[in-house]
Amino acid sequence: MTAVLREETRQRDAIVRIGKSLFDRGLTFGSTGNISVRLGDGTILATPTNASLGDLDPARLSHLDAECGHLSGDQPTKEAFLHHCVYCARSAAGAVVHLHSTHSVAVSILAEIDPEDVLPPLTAYYVMRVGKLPLVPYFAPGDRALAEAVLARIGKAHAVLLANHGPVVAGKTLADAQYATEELEETAKLFLMLQGRRLRPLTAEQADALRPKD
Ligand code: ZN
Repeated sequence: MTAVLREETRQRDAIVRIGKSLFDRGLTFGSTGNISVRLGDGTILATPTNASLGDLDPARLSHLDAECGHLSGDQPTKEAFLHHCVYCARSAAGAVVHLHSTHSVAVSILAEIDPEDVLPPLTAYYVMRVGKLPLVPYFAPGDRALAEAVLARIGKAHAVLLANHGPVVAGKTLADAQYATEELEETAKLFLMLQGRRLRPLTAEQADALRPKD
């Protein structure tokens, strides 16, 4: 087996393993959520449309070219364009995770959040893994204007929160994207637990010292 094929096989197995882990822990449900990985040759492996992340088949993942054109496998998720936006805007991104995880979605629905940076710097690990979280305005499913809105924000932050929808998180590796998505979800949960209480988040100086530099 060539090195390229070995890498593809390894990434297919990682998508299936991480998809099941996210599903088993209730971070995704039904056929929601999607995962992609950009391979060394620039092509993309993505989870298929109408598939449960808890029950993926490595051989049936969608293989796409760099423009998200279908090469082989099942038809890709209808949200593949979100992943494409990330890869276009962030040359170092090697993987993208998009979930409809409950606490992150709940925060995306709150009326009084800062659209420039949705969550305050509650903990050091949130700032290190996620950094900044711009809100992308709501668009109806299938509205291509969502791609433009994501593109306008994802270049400056490796995670964005789609209003009334969920997070889109990039990482250098799939593990990076997974961990940042989980950190975001847990921080959203903390933020909701703390609603109505006076907060003492990290200071701007403390947060700036921790923020990822990309
Ligand atoms: Zn979605």
